[in-house]
Amino acid sequence: MKYAIIIPDGAADEPLQELNGKTPFEAANIPNMDRIAMEGRQGTARTVPDGFESGSDVATMCLLGYDPKVYHTGRAPLEAAAQSIPLSATDWVFRCNLVTVVDDVMKDHSSGGISDAEAQKLLGDLSPLERRIIRALPAALRTRAALRTARALVRETYPGSRAIMRLKRGTASIDLRGSLFCEVRETSILPLCGFYASAIARVLQQFALRADAQVTECRAAGGRKGCLLSVVVSGITADEPAAAA
Ligand SMILES: [Zn+2]
Repeated sequence: MKYAIIIPDGAADEPLQELNGKTPFEAANIPNMDRIAMEGRQGTARTVPDGFESGSDVATMCLLGYDPKVYHTGRAPLEAAAQSIPLSATDWVFRCNLVTVVDDVMKDHSSGGISDAEAQKLLGDLSPLERRIIRALPAALRTRAALRTARALVRETYPGSRAIMRLKRGTASIDLRGSLFCEVRETSILPLCGFYASAIARVLQQFALRADAQVTECRAAGGRKGCLLSVVVSGITADEPAAAA
């Protein structure tokens, strides 16, 4: 007998005012889960034993039948195993998140930035030929092609996100709809869509365009018009390889 365990980890979430006091899970349209619930058997199980912090690492161990009192030594060794990082019995492993802290308050758990390596990974969907063709285009056409790639990237980051872009004399104005980070209940001091600004700039830089992106206005920081970004493209970077003939 084989089992499939599907864990909608954290899906319950908290009741929200904008959903009339329902949780996102209660408000969601989930016909298939409803059917499984109606035709199956329901019950509750305690997956986090006393004395343990309630987290996915402990709960998943319990679900899989490993007693966390015996096997749980923290989250980091599990994440290392997931990435096939070999550890010896005497190794000590840490798991780190980059965060943004303003006045001793954590404003962003993901630091609002994106590295070259991440941008490269996100660009992995584009075939090497497509990338070569785009990199061989003259600056103006290349900017348009790179912005189209950036637009697809915004959509891919989160299904509800869209970027509406307008390009005028080397400056792209971007109207960001449904930013993943900006639907916050309290007004933030900092704009929270910096992630998108740096992601878009990185995409353009990957196509050897000199690009600088800024958040003009952010809904999370009280912006009335939503989240607006501006990207200035000031030419082709010097290390540009010769364009294919
Ligand atoms: Zn924003």
